[in-house]
Amino acid sequence: MKDICRKIGISLIVIGIISSFIWAMVAGKPAIYDYERRWILTITYLVVGLFSTLILSTIFFVLSEILEKLENLEYLAIENNKSIKTLSKTNASPDLNEWKCKKCSKINPKYTGTCSCGESRP
Ligand SMILES: [Zn+2]
Repeated sequence: MKDICRKIGISLIVIGIISSFIWAMVAGKPAIYDYERRWILTITYLVVGLFSTLILSTIFFVLSEILEKLENLEYLAIENNKSIKTLSKTNASPDLNEWKCKKCSKINPKYTGTCSCGESRP
């Protein structure tokens, strides 16, 4: 997904620059042929075109950055979850706020009356 966004951003820059030049050339074209090119209009259109290209491509680049960060966060969350699970497995003695099930030896919080296996709190 983030690669797609980055590719769109890059192609937007290329397309945007080319179309800005074409747009400016067409827009600045003199109405009568022996008239001088309307440079102010040409430059204005070119700047506006390039500026909108910049904004649009920046949006896509930022989007790809955000997506990349989200993917990293997701990965971290999964890794964290894994380590928490392995920690709780190795932690054999229950805390003051916990109780250990006699049947399946799962550590349960104190406020739960029954274990997930069906065994009630001692
Ligand atoms: Zn149990």
